[in-house]
Amino acid sequence: MTQLSLAPRRRAFLQFMGLAGLATLGNVGSLLATEPKVTTPPYNTFTEEEELALGRQFSAKYESKVEILSNPIIDAYLNDIVKKLGNASQRPQWPYQIKVVNDSEINASAIPGGFLYLHRGLLEFVSDENEMVGAIAHEVGHVVARHTTNQLSLLLIAQHVFDQVKHNILMDNDVFAQVLQQLGGPVVVLAQLRYSRQNESEADLLGFYEMLRAGWNPNGLYKFFTRLAAKTGSQSPVDVMLSDHPATEERARVMRRELESINVPSGLREQTFQFQALKLALSIMPPAPRPVRQ
Ligand SMILES: [Zn+2]
Repeated sequence: MTQLSLAPRRRAFLQFMGLAGLATLGNVGSLLATEPKVTTPPYNTFTEEEELALGRQFSAKYESKVEILSNPIIDAYLNDIVKKLGNASQRPQWPYQIKVVNDSEINASAIPGGFLYLHRGLLEFVSDENEMVGAIAHEVGHVVARHTTNQLSLLLIAQHVFDQVKHNILMDNDVFAQVLQQLGGPVVVLAQLRYSRQNESEADLLGFYEMLRAGWNPNGLYKFFTRLAAKTGSQSPVDVMLSDHPATEERARVMRRELESINVPSGLREQTFQFQALKLALSIMPPAPRPVRQ
């Protein structure tokens, strides 16, 4: 079946979804339009429990290297958003959470199991809630598609330590930490697990449909990439530590094409009071420090 023959059916389906209301959009039972269906490659045999344990170890190491900005109101707002996006994703069971890294970089990252980090520079860069939710939804997309554990599995298999990690990861010992140390330390390992361009495109599309189902206009992703390209040129710095992104203009173009292929339902979330409160809270804090490169 060609793309052309799919398009009218897609429009009809989304018109129906719009008429049926947002409550129906919250049901992840069927994929929408060109949303990729997430599958795990056979070499990634980590169970969800094991993946969560890996994520806890990585996140503890990461948080010991950066300054976390803890603010109960900001944390509650961002965690409410990521839970809505997670519930609308193809892995709704993950315990998604967000922490803010107090540095000026326009950056975000995701660690297996749903540990997301937004840098303060990104929160200061975005101009409305939709753009910010677009960046979060993209990171949720990486978690949903298990991009990091797919890459990690290949690395551990190549180093002949995959069985050792699998055997020990749920035990109360530090074997995984030792393996990471042998491979150069967690930061070096994470830096090796670069997302491919295909991973990035998949995370963009997964994020697009997470937003739509969770009740946000997915034009936030288009606006985010368009403004980012204008500010930084073609290479996006978002999850720069971990990825080999396609050019930002190309990502904006793909998101616009996706927007044009659907009928965006009415009644989606617009600018919110909480977002204005977030911006105000950030503006009265001391300036964000420059990022520390490990
Ligand atoms: Zn990414």
